[in-house]
Amino acid sequence: MPDVLVLVDHDGERVHKSTYELLAAARRLGDPAAVVVGAPGTAARLKESLARQGATSVYAAESAEAGEFLVTPAVDALELAVREAPPAAVLVSATTDGREVAARLAARLDSGLLIDAVDLDSSGVVTQIVFGGSYTVRSQVTHGVPVITVRPGAFEPEEHPGEVAERALTLPATDPAASARITARRAAPAGDRPGLTEAAVVVSGGRGVGAADGFKVVEELADALGGAVGASRAAVDAGYYPHQFQVGQTGKSVSPQLYIALGISGAIQHLAGMQTSKTIVAVNKDPEAPILDLADYGVVGDLFAVAPQLTQEVAARRA
Ligand code: FAD
Repeated sequence: MPDVLVLVDHDGERVHKSTYELLAAARRLGDPAAVVVGAPGTAARLKESLARQGATSVYAAESAEAGEFLVTPAVDALELAVREAPPAAVLVSATTDGREVAARLAARLDSGLLIDAVDLDSSGVVTQIVFGGSYTVRSQVTHGVPVITVRPGAFEPEEHPGEVAERALTLPATDPAASARITARRAAPAGDRPGLTEAAVVVSGGRGVGAADGFKVVEELADALGGAVGASRAAVDAGYYPHQFQVGQTGKSVSPQLYIALGISGAIQHLAGMQTSKTIVAVNKDPEAPILDLADYGVVGDLFAVAPQLTQEVAARRA
């Protein structure tokens, strides 16, 4: 079986769930080979969990400065791995960084790039959601090694433990003049909510929430369900909630088991980031709101009346 390279998303200690989803997707095409880019020792720490989720080999692309630069070390590592042994495909999570890594890699390799895959078959045909969700397209790369970004949440992680081979890649020194260096990192949000792209439940608030204070009802429902909080761009632009939580075309793509939209109209740019959610619930006081056409369950009502009742009910059932 040919290798399928998977770029590992991690925080140095822990592999992100989106990588386990990539490993499950990769197994449809060949043997998943995980590429870990980070400080020395990172691959050794992450190897066991990657092996448990089906990686048959782990590339360690490590250097003291690897974590100090945006995307360039990851592109270098994947290019080295591809040139060492051409894989059946390279899979990268469709996160902000992942999209940039994939685009740069495809340009360097002169390969085809497919973005936002939500499905993948064993012959390499990729299903994508395009034009903000207006169309579903099936495509295949016919030139070079396919580089594919995969939408977080599109695949279920699958435990598939086995032997794992260790490989090393020698990263070239990053040219600071041609790369973006990370100068500061935002502290992780307080609390123990799951990450937006990893959560099984996402509760998002829109302009209808009306104020930053109003997001308390969104957070309370998310916490009752053990979920993450998201926001529409209008809510972010109005300063109700931080940008890192924006869902949509210019925010994060999510595909949770349950997505609850509170006071969100359902603009196409918002739908682009959440319409592949398994079950969608919308609360909107306007019966004509487009989100209600997409929702599996729609509630026409005031979110400040509906959401607290839902929170109370969930809390009562969990007690
Ligand atoms: P609105 O459209 O103003 O809707 C608010 C909704 O709340 C209404 O339906 C209203 O009936 C309802 N409401 C009001 N009060 C209550 C209440 N008390 N109870 C219940 N319901 C209530 N948007 C994104 O979200 N993400 C993106 O990534 C994104 N990217 C974009 C990229 C581009 C290039 C462009 C042009 C736009 C983008 N947008 C994005 C913006 C998008 O077009 C919409 O403007 C935005 O999604 C609207 O957000 P909203 O639904 O919160 O606000």
